[in-house]
Amino acid sequence: MFDTLSDRLGGVFDKLRGRGALREQDVRDAMREVRIALLEADVALPVARRFIDAVTEKAVGQDVLRSVTPGQQVIKIVHDELVETLGGMEVEGLRFDAKPPVVIMMVGLQGSGKTTTTAKLAKLIRERHGKKALMASLDVNRPAAQEQLAILGTQVDVATLPIVVGQQPVDIARRAMESARLQNFDVLLLDTAGRLHVDDALMAEMKAVAGVSSPNEVLLVVDSLTGQDAVNVAQNFTNEVPLTGVVLTRMDGDARGGAALSMRAVTGKPIKFAGTGEKLDAIEPFRPGSVADRILG
Ligand code: GDP
Repeated sequence: MFDTLSDRLGGVFDKLRGRGALREQDVRDAMREVRIALLEADVALPVARRFIDAVTEKAVGQDVLRSVTPGQQVIKIVHDELVETLGGMEVEGLRFDAKPPVVIMMVGLQGSGKTTTTAKLAKLIRERHGKKALMASLDVNRPAAQEQLAILGTQVDVATLPIVVGQQPVDIARRAMESARLQNFDVLLLDTAGRLHVDDALMAEMKAVAGVSSPNEVLLVVDSLTGQDAVNVAQNFTNEVPLTGVVLTRMDGDARGGAALSMRAVTGKPIKFAGTGEKLDAIEPFRPGSVADRILG
């Protein structure tokens, strides 16, 4: 991930570093190259534009150009702006500060990694936070989706809501709430149904489920390999459901990185976790600072 972007930026920065003095035009030329590198990495156009404007504004000031190491300073400005674009220095974890059961609703398209991520989070909540979690699959569209979650539940040693054949998503959500309350679960994870594309029926279902479960977290799961599509999906969900964060899956793949860089700006919500593999412990808190370090090599 980020390899090509990293190489391209490295090339631009080598040129900047090699010069003792910088003129405003040198910075502008370098930023033109950075802009192309961002767009080639699939960063959404408005995000790339804003990024370049912000860096240019800070970098063409006399303080930077007249300093002893102007190239180094420009690189530092790019680094800081990358961190900002990725969400700032704060690492945003899950919010548990509510009356139990804390409800975490997982949303996203089919194939994004939603069910796997639900199980990964349940494992993490049990192991790292010591909380008792219940998982429920509300996916009545995809054959065997509910069974898939039950199998994952056994693997991560987290309870799943018993399957009642024929029950509809909103009713499953109500039953899950009831069970979580009665059995004193700390956290309830709702794995909602995906679709191949965003459509009205999907959004209506998400709103209805949110309506009966009043989730404390609504996490959008998106596949980082899908680049601009991931950004469009995020835009659609943001307009319809009250997201509290994003999980980017397949960060272990060779995605060009555009989805990661665009997501915060497009949704206005923090990227909370990164999925880094198929194994059920392959999930990490998303750290904008380390991601920016990685991009800049
Ligand atoms: P859903 O349809 O959104 O529920 O998707 P699934 O959870 O069934 O995941 C689809 C496939 O993606 C499965 O084979 C998962 O193992 C895989 N997957 C999920 N997250 C990741 C990830 O972060 N990295 C990799 N390499 N594979 C993942």
